[in-house]
Amino acid sequence: MRITLEVDKCIGSGSCEMLAPDVFEVGESGLAELLDANPGSEMEANCRSAEESCPTQAITVEV
Ligand code: SF4
Repeated sequence: MRITLEVDKCIGSGSCEMLAPDVFEVGESGLAELLDANPGSEMEANCRSAEESCPTQAITVEV
């Protein structure tokens, strides 16, 4: 699975981190950072939830 984070779209809402904390983290900058750009398939449901919940469509999940 491949995760893309367009950080220039991020507004730091934190919902991605809440839903998939192994993959996303809101850093000291106040914006999301990718902890793992290629998580295993067991993370797909969480990553899809993060993608859907992002208010600015900054996250793309590709399988
Ligand atoms: S859900 Fe979207 S806007 Fe919110 S912190 Fe994550 S990437 Fe940024």
